[in-house]
Amino acid sequence: LNTPAQIAERVEQFEESKIRVMFDLAEEHEGDLVRLEVGEPDFDTPQHIVSGAMDAAHDGATHYTSNAGLPEVREAIANKMADENYVHVDPESELVVTNGAMEALLLAMLAVVNPGDDVLIPTPGWPNYSAQATLAGAKPVEVPMSPEDDFDLDADRVIDAMSSDTAAVLLNTPCNPTGRDFDREEIQRVTDAVADYNAYLIADEVYEGLVYDGSSEGIASYVDHPERVLTVNGCSKKYAMTGWRLGWLAGDETVIDTTTTIHQSTTSCASSVSQHAALTALTGDQSSIEEMYDVFERRRDFVVDRIAEIPGVSCPRPNGAIYVFLDVSEFEGSSMEIAKKLLNNYGVVTAPGSGFGDVGEGYLRLSFANSLDELEKGLNRIEEMAHDEL
Ligand code: PLP
Repeated sequence: LNTPAQIAERVEQFEESKIRVMFDLAEEHEGDLVRLEVGEPDFDTPQHIVSGAMDAAHDGATHYTSNAGLPEVREAIANKMADENYVHVDPESELVVTNGAMEALLLAMLAVVNPGDDVLIPTPGWPNYSAQATLAGAKPVEVPMSPEDDFDLDADRVIDAMSSDTAAVLLNTPCNPTGRDFDREEIQRVTDAVADYNAYLIADEVYEGLVYDGSSEGIASYVDHPERVLTVNGCSKKYAMTGWRLGWLAGDETVIDTTTTIHQSTTSCASSVSQHAALTALTGDQSSIEEMYDVFERRRDFVVDRIAEIPGVSCPRPNGAIYVFLDVSEFEGSSMEIAKKLLNNYGVVTAPGSGFGDVGEGYLRLSFANSLDELEKGLNRIEEMAHDEL
């Protein structure tokens, strides 16, 4: 057919993610590579979780579920939130189970953002937030945090960027790409301002299960305006369940009700088999989860200590998540050029900092979701590059 494709204006300016660019270059590369660009746990889903899902499928859990998710899954999520995050939600009216945290984020935006509204995104931040705000017809507004402050949340900067056009502020703590667990007082101040503007705080807490120094308390547990907080979380990171696509959104009853209605006409419900996997993950034996957590913590310490020995590069010790944000500003070139050089000449794949907002220029995101041997090899190669560059 020779008919030219008609692409909707809404998505015309969508750019390929820079992490994806590095992934594709790595796939084409033929040499021996150390992969440090990945954004998911390198562990397989623990066997008892897989078995829980398979047993449920064999027993007939192969049908649509209610739009908001199976009642027992919602109850397990509400219990988890109360026990681990100190956030209390009614599983019947304040919770919807989604296809990954990503769908929860999109549904939250579709529910509270009008076309043309601003969605504020502190950066460096996960690139999908801008893409999703755009899909919802809103204007993504990057609010750069300060490198001097190791990119901690600076409430003044966010509040200065707010106006009557602000419909939502996205906070991701611990943060991808910095691993930073944001300061609570700053979060509190941002939430107060969000309430003043009748906006919403969309709290992406997907790395909450991987906080090493600090607590896993959810934002909605300690701010003065929990009714303005929409909490997003899921099973992907903590339970090594990225492929199951299981997340949730919790918050104000009216917003959740609206979200559930949107969910009904987008995907209807999260996969029933995955919901049963989540049920096992949340209510079953936690020892394998604790083992994975310990491994991540050891890797984090190894990576940070090894980086401290390499001249010309630096990073703070992240309090959570699976990344370090490496300052490579003493190297020549843009972060994309540095990432490509590191890949082509030294065989290490990383994500360029500029992929997380302009303020990430001069940085590389390294994931420690890889074995200690691979991490050591990758960091030896980065040291080699540092010696050649400086
Ligand atoms: N939020 C952040 C900050 C992430 O890094 C990711 C995945 O990389 C997600 C959300 C997506 O999570 P899920 O797999 O549950 O959709």
